[in-house]
Amino acid sequence: MIRTCSIWRSLEVVGDTPILLILEAIWWGERRFDKIHARSGLQKALISDRLKKLIEAGIIEKRPYTDRPPRYEYLLTEKGQDLYWTSLMLLRWERKWSSQRNRLKIELTHTPCGSVTDPQPLCGHCREVIHPADVSWEEGPGVGLMSPVYSRRRQRRGAGEDLVERASVFTEVAELMGDRWASLILRSIFTHLRKFDEILKDTAIASNILSERLAWLTEIGVVTAVLYQNNPERFEYWLTKKGLDYYPVLVMLQQWGDKYYASPEGPPLLLFHKTCGRPLEPYVGCSNCLEPILPGDVTFRVSEGRGSKTRRR
Ligand SMILES: [Zn+2]
Ligand SMILES: [Zn+2]
Repeated sequence: MIRTCSIWRSLEVVGDTPILLILEAIWWGERRFDKIHARSGLQKALISDRLKKLIEAGIIEKRPYTDRPPRYEYLLTEKGQDLYWTSLMLLRWERKWSSQRNRLKIELTHTPCGSVTDPQPLCGHCREVIHPADVSWEEGPGVGLMSPVYSRRRQRRGAGEDLVERASVFTEVAELMGDRWASLILRSIFTHLRKFDEILKDTAIASNILSERLAWLTEIGVVTAVLYQNNPERFEYWLTKKGLDYYPVLVMLQQWGDKYYASPEGPPLLLFHKTCGRPLEPYVGCSNCLEPILPGDVTFRVSEGRGSKTRRR
């Protein structure tokens, strides 16, 4: 059993690499199966399966656009639209930190203020940028224990998949958030549990799998192992800058999970912004005017090495 948490509940729904790539395609305005297929580069059977799961979860809905033969398009529901801030934070991290970040150049313009923008995680009370060190937490009314369900293997991209052939922007971030164990490990480290045994107890992951994930997180530069004891050697796992910067993704995901998956008693975890002393009500705002960024407020200009085009979403 592990601590209940809205991040985990959200990840049970969207913590899956193919789902993230499908959602990305839908964010780009692709509504039809073939377009989602072309943009995500995923196998068709996988797309069908995940579209079904997304419909069951109430994140997308399908609507017929022609009946001879019957064909459907896929649209985000309000619950799906509410993942917009999470997706902007995924985009922010990918652009800043991914090993694939130079593959595509993306320029975002906030149409209400007309400026090029870099969407930021901001506090709803003081409008300062949210840093993990400035956030404290305490147990909320919905605190409790739950048993996590894991898939054993880390979902890796197929070896034959060629990133250049795909139009997805999310690459490394989809792999990171798509791995629920990795996210659960990061949750522990963000709450200052850094020793192997502490993380083991907090996540209830089998020790061989925990070792494998920590090695992977170290390899991609999200955590760094710090020796704290010789003979036998023992390490603590600290977040790197790249790892710390994943925090806004988790904050926005928690907010979404609190809205859709909190127990009747309330959210399991309460966050406070030490900077202003108020409960943390995070939002994603424009780096220029600080106003909340709403779906439809941003124009994306993407250069893919084959010229550039402007898209809205
Ligand atoms: Zn604040
Ligand atoms: Zn703006």
